[in-house]
Amino acid sequence: MRRSRKVKILATLGPASDDAATIRRLFEAGADVFRINMSHADHDTMRRLVGVIRGIEAEAERPIGILADLQGPKLRVGKFAKGAVELKPGQIFTLDDDPAPGTTKRVNLPHPEILRSVRPGERLLIDDGKLQLRCEETDGASLRCVVVSGTKISDRKGVSLPDTDLPVGALTEKDRRDLDAALAAGVDWIALSFIQRPEDLAEARKVARGRALLMAKIEKPQAVLRLPEIIELSDALMVARGDLGVEMPIEAVPGIQKQITRACRRAGKPVVVATQMLESMISAPVPTRAEVSDVSIAVFEGADAIMLSAESAAGQYPVEAVAMMNRIAVQVERDPTYPSIINAQRTEPEATSADAISLASRQIAETLKLSAIVTYTSSGATGLRAARERPLLPIVALSPVVETARRLSLVWGTHCVVSEDAHDSEDMVDRACRIAFREGFAAPGERVIITAGVPFGTPGATNMLRIAYVGSDGQGGV
Ligand code: PGA
Ligand code: MN
Repeated sequence: MRRSRKVKILATLGPASDDAATIRRLFEAGADVFRINMSHADHDTMRRLVGVIRGIEAEAERPIGILADLQGPKLRVGKFAKGAVELKPGQIFTLDDDPAPGTTKRVNLPHPEILRSVRPGERLLIDDGKLQLRCEETDGASLRCVVVSGTKISDRKGVSLPDTDLPVGALTEKDRRDLDAALAAGVDWIALSFIQRPEDLAEARKVARGRALLMAKIEKPQAVLRLPEIIELSDALMVARGDLGVEMPIEAVPGIQKQITRACRRAGKPVVVATQMLESMISAPVPTRAEVSDVSIAVFEGADAIMLSAESAAGQYPVEAVAMMNRIAVQVERDPTYPSIINAQRTEPEATSADAISLASRQIAETLKLSAIVTYTSSGATGLRAARERPLLPIVALSPVVETARRLSLVWGTHCVVSEDAHDSEDMVDRACRIAFREGFAAPGERVIITAGVPFGTPGATNMLRIAYVGSDGQGGV
């Protein structure tokens, strides 16, 4: 089954979409990767969803990626005697270590290490910034704050600390349990929330032992500052615009989105643009023009994937939201301005044979107007470098490893097929042509370009290029 778009669609599953029939419809409407949000899904639910997705994948004979998103160190206040209180700007409000129910004067912040690290002058943003406090005084066990703006606080509201370097790693106890369960269930990608430093990836990397790849969610100013190092240590990034827009001035988010997308494209690491992309479709069957424009910007930038959150997880129109995203993406990619915008951001190859061959295969394919680039990639590394070139024709990635094919389902322009390694050069040509034909990428009489590594069957660098005709029966010819 082929799709006619390069950018991938990531759909979050939730109460609006956690049954097999809806997940199948999301897939048919265009979802390439599914996100399971571990902030909400318990382990049984997660395992059930993985099973459902694998079932759909087997039926459709198309690899589907699964991303388990760990909650990370999300801070929350305690509870109030009456559920909520009203506050006035200018008043004093204290966060402390006393578990007693909150009042109009104070509430518990059940994170002692945070009470110790906030300094006077630093901001505390509660409930996605609806309430803003500024710390005036600290004694290690309480933060005496002034209310800067906002009038309400209620039970268990989230707390963001954009000015504070948090003395916490990226994995909480809950994250460790969720990570183990997700790896055991065989998910393909793990997303890490609220990372601040490159070191925050180390523990998950060690636990994963190659069983899943790591996606760093950029949603804190501290992470933006260390972007190059974080990109280096991650397998992919997410522009997590929801929390980023709370922790940073909201008007800075579009520029940061461009900065992250470009840096990832340069590095050849997949990048996902996320959150509120079609927000109004949570409760309406059509998006706003501004949302359509927002999705189109991510597609024009050459992001690898665009994501739906509440729209597909908890909205009234989950399937319509995926279908709409698909329509916007297809239309943008057909726009006459699209190739020149994508080409303008293309970066020089690095001095490796994979990059040199990826560049050459794109140039040959574009010059000769070939139908597809077929790349043999066992680990997925060559597939990623081929996608980094952003060729305007499809990349068909052949891997004998199903995990590789699933991981690459997140990657721009890449159609993944599980296929044995070629045995010899005749088999290499034949297999590539047959699959390109069968999957709808090349008709008889058309040509494809094939990249592979010889000797066959031994993993290693890609070192060869071959142009081949698809024969009348779909078989390869010279
Ligand atoms: P979340 O992450 O949906 O897990 O909060 C994405 C974001 O913050 O944008
Ligand atoms: Mn977030």
